Amino acid sequence: YRAKGGPQHYMFYNREMSSGLSERIALARDLKAALNSDDDQLSLVFQPQFDLATSELVGAEALLRWQHPRHGGISPGVFIPIAEERGMMLMISNWVFDASCRQLLAWQAAGVAFRGRIAINIAAQQIEDASFPQHAAERVRSYGLDPALFELELTESGMMRNIDLAIELAGQLSTAGFTLAIDDFGTGYSSLAYLKRLPADKLKIDQSFVRDMIDNSNDHAIVATIIGMGRTLGLHTIAEGIETAEQASALLELGCQEGQGYLLGRPETAEAFARRWLG
Ligand code: C2E
Ligand code: MG
Ligand code: MG
Ligand code: MG
Repeated sequence: YRAKGGPQHYMFYNREMSSGLSERIALARDLKAALNSDDDQLSLVFQPQFDLATSELVGAEALLRWQHPRHGGISPGVFIPIAEERGMMLMISNWVFDASCRQLLAWQAAGVAFRGRIAINIAAQQIEDASFPQHAAERVRSYGLDPALFELELTESGMMRNIDLAIELAGQLSTAGFTLAIDDFGTGYSSLAYLKRLPADKLKIDQSFVRDMIDNSNDHAIVATIIGMGRTLGLHTIAEGIETAEQASALLELGCQEGQGYLLGRPETAEAFARRWLG
């Protein structure tokens, strides 16, 4: 049967349904097929990122969506872990780079101005692939685009899994011209000592702290500490998951430069994103 609902209708195929080994193997097989065909099962949505002080659009995070022909929309929270488990992250990230490059070129061709960066999520697994930074930069350049147009998001916990490799990879990514943001920051137990050695550009405050920062003084203190760490280390800070005006103004007051979240803009198709945000 067919799950009803369009691309917005996701989380139908949930974590419990994909908990069995045979289901996971079947999903991985279907995902591989989707990656290798051009039948539009996979797509990117774009969520805007803003300068909190000026409200200027500074970037967009590209987030992967999968519309399965039989199961309907499947959340990246379900299929990304399966893809990681099956060693498919390089395939995924190549697909996301290609789609992002084609989108930037399409916007250019249509004369809509996007002056920000595209933020792309990179899985921890790719830290172990020494050729990744060079390959990613070559891939972007093969479209005639500059790696400086891309900000790569690596999770703090993923980098802490192998801090020495992460430091090396971060150096190569920045040499290749990419900007590097540490995603889900605050959940990965890194220390100032490690952060000092990591050539990152930005800390992305995890949404779990932003969610409760108004009511929970511990979370407020954590957010303040992260912003302070950023300032000390000369890193920009961006907060994710901003849902209320109170959160946005508290973050601005604490000195957080950038923000992303449903209050400011939801992830949308490229067409909707351009209509709403690009002139
Ligand atoms: P993430 O990189 O931390 O992305 C942020 C997630 O928070 C996204 O969920 C986004 O839609 C959601 N979000 C944004 N603003 C708000 C808000 O105000 N409130 C709430 N409650 N949520 C908000 P999404 O798209 O489901 O992605 C989940 C995770 O899946 C991402 O977390 C990322 O780790 C992973 N992911 C998504 N696309 C890709 C991809 O192309 N490659 C890789 N490696 N991972 C991806
Ligand atoms: Mg991210
Ligand atoms: Mg994040
Ligand atoms: Mg997150």
